[in-house]
Amino acid sequence: MSDTSARAVIVGAGHAGGSAAALLRQYGWQGPVTLIGSEPVPPYQRPPLSKAWLKGEGNFADLLLRPAAFYETNRIDLRLANEVTEIDRSDKTVKLSTGEHAAYDHLILATGCHARPLHVPGHDLAGIVALRTLGDADRLRPLLRQGMRIAIIGAGYIGLEVAASARILGADVTVIERESRVLARVASIPLSDFFQRRHAAAGVHIIMDAAVEAFGGVGGQVTAVRLADGNRIPCDVALIGIGAAPNDALARRAGLACDNGIIVDLATRTSDPAIRAIGDCTHRPLPLYHRTGRLESVPNAIEQAKQVAADLCGRPPPAPEVPWFWSDQYEVRLQIAGLPFETTETAVRGDPSAESFAVFHLAGDGTIQAVEAINAPAEFMAGRMMIARRRQAVAARLRDVSCSIRELAT
Ligand code: NAP
Repeated sequence: MSDTSARAVIVGAGHAGGSAAALLRQYGWQGPVTLIGSEPVPPYQRPPLSKAWLKGEGNFADLLLRPAAFYETNRIDLRLANEVTEIDRSDKTVKLSTGEHAAYDHLILATGCHARPLHVPGHDLAGIVALRTLGDADRLRPLLRQGMRIAIIGAGYIGLEVAASARILGADVTVIERESRVLARVASIPLSDFFQRRHAAAGVHIIMDAAVEAFGGVGGQVTAVRLADGNRIPCDVALIGIGAAPNDALARRAGLACDNGIIVDLATRTSDPAIRAIGDCTHRPLPLYHRTGRLESVPNAIEQAKQVAADLCGRPPPAPEVPWFWSDQYEVRLQIAGLPFETTETAVRGDPSAESFAVFHLAGDGTIQAVEAINAPAEFMAGRMMIARRRQAVAARLRDVSCSIRELAT
């Protein structure tokens, strides 16, 4: 039996933590809810930071997940610019950077990820930035002007989204990637080829198979990126976008089971029954794929926020969702549903040169495991539904655009 009058303390006021606080109230939690965040602003959306926000579009109120007054109205004790430095599991308290303590009956860790640093000589020069927080975006935004030169290390989502925004603002952009294709970790070869061509057409200079050896600078300011092959890329700003790592150090210090993230079950329980974990920082079950993994995405943060709020409030668990992701670059919308585990065949539907197509990934028995859609929302929706239902399909029919995607999905 759940006790909805107990004390809930949430560590991390990002998308996961902010959503969990709101959902606890929505599902009838009566007890105190404390939401502790290290940034000085209420929970906000990160996806626009590398896109609209960087281009100077949109306003702060639109960026917020909920209006600032929401927290007071809903009796959520929002403690910003505050970090939890320690968890005392026997005492059920957390220690804050201010020296205060907060007692909990249920602790929810929603600590997210941090941008991976690149430790090469010169990494501490001014003008070398990461992009994870609103503060990071606000520091980068005024630097992106017509004709300035930005070197972007890493051709992942951050790297390519910033490349598109910077080109739109008229900057001179070079992307440096260790792999032999862009989006190597997160997308298939047809998608990589497409984005490579699209960025090249927009004037982005992309260097593949490149190892950054050092940053060069003058007067403490970065002026170039030096590559292992001797190549030197002059720049005014360097952006590091080489991936994210889970903020699980607090959980590790408290002795919780971790393995590339805090290990949780489908009800977000950690190895301590009084502690839950949600969002990017978790290593979670992926029930559709009969394995576990870590997902870095807004839909995952919301799904796990629903799982924890439902479980604590004694509601039935939400149905497992198909993992999904999106990215906007120029006028291109990429939507991905599912994860391409154990796939043996791909089916490209539509014409990549027309900037509208989808790539379906099938397992050996024809089960659709994932779909990647470029400006193809119908294929994305249909693919997502087919993945959720574990539907099988024949690749040739998926490729045949004269077969209606809706009929294939039903
Ligand atoms: P990412 O998607 O993992 O991409 C990082 C890329 O940098 C990888 O291709 C990686 O290659 C490469 N790389 C690693 N070390 C490198 C090096 N020393 N030199 C050159 N390239 C190197 O990570 P991200 O783009 O930094 O994104 C960070 C986080 O923000 C992730 O959680 C991401 O999901 C999230 N994000 C998501 C979106 C979205 O969903 N639309 C948008 C922005 C950010 P290897 O595979 O070889 O390591």
